[in-house]
This record gives sequence, structure tokens and C-alpha cells, in this order.
Amino acid sequence: MLKVIYDLNEWVEIRKEAIRENKLIGFVPTMGALHLGHRALIERSRRENDIVVVSIFVNPTQFNDANDLKKYPKTYDDDLEMLQECNVDYLIFPNYENMYPDNYHYKIIEDDFSTKLCGASRPGHFDGVLTVVMKLLNIIKPTCAYFGEKDYQQYKLIAGMVKAFFMDVEIVPCKTVRAEGGLALSSRNKLLTKDELKIAPLFNKFLSSNLSIPEIKMELEKNGFKIDYIEEINNRRFGAVFLGKVRLIDNVEI
Ligand code: AMP
Repeated sequence: MLKVIYDLNEWVEIRKEAIRENKLIGFVPTMGALHLGHRALIERSRRENDIVVVSIFVNPTQFNDANDLKKYPKTYDDDLEMLQECNVDYLIFPNYENMYPDNYHYKIIEDDFSTKLCGASRPGHFDGVLTVVMKLLNIIKPTCAYFGEKDYQQYKLIAGMVKAFFMDVEIVPCKTVRAEGGLALSSRNKLLTKDELKIAPLFNKFLSSNLSIPEIKMELEKNGFKIDYIEEINNRRFGAVFLGKVRLIDNVEI
């Protein structure tokens, strides 16, 4: 039976018992508007652990654009249904005051990889991500935490933080789940218009093609995308584009 926890102190009591009983705790942090990409992480966590914890927290400190935060899709009732179907034990659903008793005066800052790719176009984004993930890992104390390769830069930065701060948790990367046609599933896809949804798969098609970076940019622009960046780092090609007002990201191995 799914139990929804609004107050992190309540979780601390449950956690104490779980740890006393040597239970494996699997954790999937999310911002809600759940889709089959989230579901893959949750199902894997269900297979590999005794207790499955999912969090939904639309973290304001990782949004550098107030309008983007305001528009972020919210589908709480459908989310609850999916969590019940997946046999999740606990949903952690805190508010800002509960997550940020310090009002974000304490931050985790990585000053190298976090300034590149999405960090270059969204200043402060990864400070917010790393800080909230550090808080969540410290309070949940999971055995394993699951992250999608769809947000590959985020996954690498979190894995690096866990190593740098000797944190006792295993970070498990999970393959990107895609729609038919190749579009990476994302909560933001819900904001695309019907027409935009038709051309959105071209992003992955060109990103994973054999074309050069300038050619990929040209093809995408021809089809109505605005380029944020297309870059290759360590055998991986990363991209971020705008389709109308919606920003899409993806990455592929090369
Ligand atoms: P979000 O709710 O967007 O913060 O995502 C929560 C977690 O789900 C992150 O670890 C994401 O990388 C992961 N995720 C989101 N979309 C996908 C996808 N299409 N495939 C795999 N993982 C995903």
C-alpha cells in the first residue's frame, strides 16, 4: 500500500526501522508528471530492493526561468495511480519549507562540468539539482538511487558528488526510454502542441545520425528547431533545442 509522506520527519522514523531490519531501500527522485521513463526507473528499483521510495518535488532552485517553473506540468492524480500500479511503498511529497529550512543559503557547487552544456545555458541549474539531490539522499538514506541517462550530465554530476563526498549510496544509471520514432520521453513533452509533437522525433533522428555537428544544426534549423547546443564530449553527443517555447534535451553514444 502506497503511503504519502508530506513531512520529512515522519520518514526519518520509518527509515530508522527499515535500517534496523537491514532492508534494501531503492529511491527514485522525480519532479512528477510521471511517464514511462520514470516508470522504468521505478520498476527497476522495485525489482532490486525491499522498500521503494519515490519523491515528487518540483525543485524551484534548479529553475533559472520563473515562467518555466510556473508552466512545469503537474499530474498528481495520474502520478499516484502509476505509483500504486508499480507497488511503490512511499511517496515523499515535501513542500519548499520542508526541503529548504535554510532557504537555500547552503549549496552544493561543482565548478567544472556543471558549467558546460545545460549549465552554460541555465546558470545555477546544477547547483539547484546537486543541492536538492544531496538533501534527498541524506534524508532518505537509500541503498541505491536510480537516475535516467536522458539527463546524462545530471547523472554524471550526481555520481561525481557521491564520490567526492564519500556518500554511502549506489547511483544506478538507467537507459533512456523513448517514444516510437525516438523522441526521449520527458515531462516537458506534455507542453508540445500536436504539430510540434510531429516534428519532435527529428531531434533524436539527426542527433544520432552520422552527420557532422554543423550539418545536424542545419537540418534541425531547417525543420523549425532553435539550437541551444550540440556538442560532443567523451564519445557522447549532447543536444538541447527549443521547439516553440519548449526546451528538449537528449544525448546519444557515438
Ligand atoms: P525528472 O522528473 O525529469 O526530474 O526526472 C526524474 C528522473 O527520471 C531523472 O533521473 C531522469 O533522468 C529520469 N528520466 C526522465 N525521463 C527519462 C527517460 N525518458 N528515460 C529514462 N529516465 C528518464
